[in-house]
Amino acid sequence: MGVLPVMICQIIAGDDGLTLGVTMDWTDIGGHLALDLINTVEMRFDPGRRKDGLVDFVALLDWSQTFHTITANEVSALRHTCDVDPVEAQVELVRTAAARDDFYAMLFERKPAATQRIADLYREAVAGCELRPSGDAWEWVDSDLTLATPRHRVVRQMVGFLQRDDLDHLDQCEDARCGRVYLDHSPRRNRRWCVSSECGDRNRSRAYYQRQKRSGRVSG
Ligand SMILES: [Zn+2]
Repeated sequence: MGVLPVMICQIIAGDDGLTLGVTMDWTDIGGHLALDLINTVEMRFDPGRRKDGLVDFVALLDWSQTFHTITANEVSALRHTCDVDPVEAQVELVRTAAARDDFYAMLFERKPAATQRIADLYREAVAGCELRPSGDAWEWVDSDLTLATPRHRVVRQMVGFLQRDDLDHLDQCEDARCGRVYLDHSPRRNRRWCVSSECGDRNRSRAYYQRQKRSGRVSG
C-alpha cells in the first residue's frame, strides 16, 4: 500500500472564497487506481450512510491528479473548461460515476450489460488516441484534452486492470456495509478489511461488545 489509507474530508475554496465542494483526501486502498475509483463510494451497502466522494467535477479532477491520470497543468486547463461549460462538466461527472458503477457491477456482480457498457466506453476511450512508444513500453496518448479525458483515461486503466493475471486476489472488505474493494496480496492471503484502523477496528469493537453482552458483563 503506497499511501497511508486515511480518509480526510477537505473543503475546496474557490478564488472568490466561496466553497465549491467537499472532496476526499484520496488514498490508495485497492492496490490499483481502477479499484480505487470504485472506492470513491463509501458505505456502498448502507443506503442511509452511502456517500459518493465524486461530488462534483472538481472532485473528479482532484481524484484523477492524485492517482496520476492527469497532470497539474491539465487540471488547470480542465478547471477553466469546467468554468466555461459547467453543464457538460456535470454530464461528464455523471458518465464517469456510471462507468465506475458499471466496473463494480461487472467485477463483483458479473453483470453482462455492465461489461458491455465498459467495452463500449473503452472503444470510445481509445478512438481519439494514438498508440506511441514510451520508454520500453507503449501508451495511449490523447489527441485532445477535453472534459471527457479523465473518464477516457480511467476507462483505459480499467481494461488494463482486467488483463492482469492476479485477479484471483480481488476481494472486498468484510464489513457488512462498506463495499470497498482491493487486491489481497497479504502474505497469508487473509486481508479482511479495506482499512484495518477503520472497518477492522469498528468490527472488532462490535464483536467485543457482543461477547461482553452475551457474557452478561454489559446490559442493553
Ligand atoms: Zn471497509
